[in-house]
Amino acid sequence: MENSRSPFDVALTQFDRAATYVEQPDHILEALRVCRRELIVNFPVRMDDRSEKIMTGYRIQHSTARGPSKGGIRYHPGVTLDEMRAMAMWMTWKCAVANLPYGGAKGGVTCDPRTLSVDELENLTRRYATEIAIIMGPEDDIPAPDVGTDARTMAWIMDTYSNQCGRFTPAVVTGKPLELGGSVGRAEATGRGIAWVTAEALKHRNMPLEGATVAVQGFGKVGAPSAYLLEDLGCKVVAISDVTGGYYNPKGLDVRDLLCYARQNNNLLAGYPSAECITNDELLAMDVDILALCALEGAVTECNAPSIRAKLVVEGANGPVTPEADDILTDKGIFLVPDVLANIGGVVVSYFEWIQGRQFHFWTECEVNEQLHAIMVRSFEQVLNMAQEKKVDMRVAAYILAIDRVARAQALRGPCV
Ligand code: NAD
Repeated sequence: MENSRSPFDVALTQFDRAATYVEQPDHILEALRVCRRELIVNFPVRMDDRSEKIMTGYRIQHSTARGPSKGGIRYHPGVTLDEMRAMAMWMTWKCAVANLPYGGAKGGVTCDPRTLSVDELENLTRRYATEIAIIMGPEDDIPAPDVGTDARTMAWIMDTYSNQCGRFTPAVVTGKPLELGGSVGRAEATGRGIAWVTAEALKHRNMPLEGATVAVQGFGKVGAPSAYLLEDLGCKVVAISDVTGGYYNPKGLDVRDLLCYARQNNNLLAGYPSAECITNDELLAMDVDILALCALEGAVTECNAPSIRAKLVVEGANGPVTPEADDILTDKGIFLVPDVLANIGGVVVSYFEWIQGRQFHFWTECEVNEQLHAIMVRSFEQVLNMAQEKKVDMRVAAYILAIDRVARAQALRGPCV
């Protein structure tokens, strides 16, 4: 049976499950079930053959109650209004869990960046940035990289925006190249946060970090650093997958060797010689201590959740486990660290980058990582305390914490916010 739920439907179900525990007025909670601002743009892109192709993009702001909205830009064929709404809402909860002064947003363009040349990608990005500039800005809405975009994309957006307003404005995006005011530690931040929160979860479950076996789904900006940083902490990464399939070695993979291979092969693992090939489904069902889901939403549904054997599931991606699958994993006694806690490292260091960009004063990597570590540990503890107090799972606990923080801000600002 196919998973028929849309991402926003999943996000609303997750919200509703937690909202019943939040003691805030109904009208405030009701307002948080919808996105505050939704921009759809259809725009022409000049292709290499001089033709023009009409593309569709989105920028959705779910909440601005606690500050400017923050969230990534995705280039992927599966980008839809529904998906962007879900991602924007999840960003609100992530920022609130981390206690950052931000609301949530998300944007994207429905396209396959792998089929576009660098010039076409630049044309697309500059035109899309121009279209969404009416709601973007360092004090309004601050994009960052997501699936299919990277530091170079952020450089183009920053340059387009700066040209429009006539001044260098690095704080309009995060995840920029270091040469343009990016932050040290940003590229690995999501993975670093995932590794640290996994260590906290293992400690809580009385499981040793040293030698803990790991399977990682997805080997991009989130999955790859998660894998090698878990390896650095002493874990044994036995399986990794990307869109081309899974790669397995029971004795442990050499994650940096896989990374080296992928970098020389258009960021793909196809043909990696030093591992056994497995399917993505086999990877998900592996008998490992930790399963890190770092690819896309909807990876674990009610269809494959019964086959999951990992003791700990960590959501590096946004929305990889549906609510029905959540229930199955809970019944199986699997401890799940939800996305809105596990992958906050990226937005936390984006926040540090934004501060640095506004002050033109830059931190050392040591300062960035120290502060990131403190926020990861604090957030894990606060969510765990909530889970124990309310006797709920970690996802519901994270949502209670986040919804309460956002609802309080919204209530204090008044009904017009
Ligand atoms: P990316 O494009 O860099 O990497 C995605 C990876 O997933 C690639 O290796 C791709 O091959 C793989 N993949 C795609 N479909 C797959 C499948 N069916 N099975 C296995 N692997 C598959 O994207 P990213 O930035 O690493 O983002 C991954 C997830 O993490 C997304 O859900 C994103 O929203 C979320 N996220 C990203 C960041 C960030 O800082 N980039 C922060 C928080 C959350």
